[in-house]
Amino acid sequence: MQTRKFFLTTAIDYPNSRPHIGTAFEKIGADIQARYRRQQGYDVFFLMGNDENTVKVSKKAAELGLPTQDYCNDMARQFREVWDALDISYDAFIQTSSPRHHACCRKFIQRVYDNGFIYKGDYTGWYCEGCEAFKTDTEVKEAGGVCPIHKTPVVRRSEPCYYFRQSAFQERLLQLFDERPELIQPESRRNEILEYVRGGLKDVNITRLGESWGIRLPWDPDFTIYVWFDALLTYITGIGFGDDEQQFAKWWPCDIHFIGKDITRFHCALWPAMLMAAGVEPPRQVFGHGFVYIKNEETGAVEKISKSLGNVVEPMQIITRFSAEAFRYYFMRECPFPGDGEFSWSRFAEVYNSELANNLGNLFSRVATLVTRNFGGTLPQTAGQAAELLDPDRPDTVRQIQQHVESCRYNQALQTLWQSILNPANQFADRKEPWKLVKTDSQAAARTLFTMIEPLRAGAILLKPFLPRAAESIYRSFNFHTPWEQVRYEDAMTPARQTEDLRIEPPLENGKIKPLFPRIA
Ligand SMILES: [Zn+2]
Repeated sequence: MQTRKFFLTTAIDYPNSRPHIGTAFEKIGADIQARYRRQQGYDVFFLMGNDENTVKVSKKAAELGLPTQDYCNDMARQFREVWDALDISYDAFIQTSSPRHHACCRKFIQRVYDNGFIYKGDYTGWYCEGCEAFKTDTEVKEAGGVCPIHKTPVVRRSEPCYYFRQSAFQERLLQLFDERPELIQPESRRNEILEYVRGGLKDVNITRLGESWGIRLPWDPDFTIYVWFDALLTYITGIGFGDDEQQFAKWWPCDIHFIGKDITRFHCALWPAMLMAAGVEPPRQVFGHGFVYIKNEETGAVEKISKSLGNVVEPMQIITRFSAEAFRYYFMRECPFPGDGEFSWSRFAEVYNSELANNLGNLFSRVATLVTRNFGGTLPQTAGQAAELLDPDRPDTVRQIQQHVESCRYNQALQTLWQSILNPANQFADRKEPWKLVKTDSQAAARTLFTMIEPLRAGAILLKPFLPRAAESIYRSFNFHTPWEQVRYEDAMTPARQTEDLRIEPPLENGKIKPLFPRIA
């Protein structure tokens, strides 16, 4: 059987400030997809990176008195520290200031130029320093004469430039969207893009004049390549375009580009047009996820994450107080990935305690304590047995969860898992009270515990992409037959037959069973 490949990317980030929880939201969503695909047997390549060829970054470095390259390298280290702490399982991290990326970008743009899709002209327009982009007259007018994003004054700017003939691709793009309805996700983004492209595509100025930081045009080195153009190219330079054609052919086209919903246009119009202009196939899917907002606990207002509002929460603040797993869980459970979500410390503690500490964690510790204390860690007469299912619709439930994961509806996947598999197990325990039963009918208590362990086994398998550490810790506490490295979602559909008596060896801490998710006061 041929292994299917899965190539996915996240947006690359400006390193002019450290990542906040909103930046992390995207990476976790992509990571769950990457881990899920690996678990299901795909050959996965997961690409991330930083977007460094921007004037803003060189300004920031100058402010700090650092060479721009040193500043970029240090920020890349800081970003990767956060991603590592969150267990983001990326395979490669591209810095766009790297000589390799520069060389491959120059090859790409030369090809587009040779194909006749780049021409020289002049550009005059309203420019926002913050966005590093020209704004259309309508955008500026509607915003009342300022940048619609930054609300700061725009400046009139005129310069010679090179245009990318985006207008030549309007019909081909519409045809592409028609042939591949799954290309733009979720559906709401698709409608927005269709309307935008139908409205007519303009040619795009893709160069800047007289900048010292950035990638120079191969045929006219007075110009650097507009940062958006080169940033998009990481998706192909990161897998060998321009210098390792075999690698490139293996991974391209991209299976999912994960991006914030605000940059959908760049990814769904400009990017496929750029690829077509170079004779490269467009990506298979672009997924524009929602945003995380901060809920102000004093006023109740929902705010955009912003430095000026002073409400920025860094991932490490949450990781050190709770855990990386709690972080991953909260954002995937509470914030619908295709839509928007909110963060507040009190809501975080609430979700953590009710769903992780008191539900999943409690189920595990009940089982571990009872089996260890009353049965010396081994449930008798379970060899050759398969536990009874508390949820007879389990195969359907698993298929449903699988569809949710594949469509990036992570919150619905987790909701279904809790509702259909974990909650019934806790309710069953409350009803059967094995802690009492064990004093009067040891055999019945053993059977009850055996039944309670099955949802933990299935839960661990299904949670493997979401909570890689806790899931592994649960699963490896038991002597289940299938090795952890090999479990797939399908294994959660039916109870596994034990080859030997079911044994538990939970992780210990100072001689006591270590809680998976200690309650937070
Ligand atoms: Zn702006």
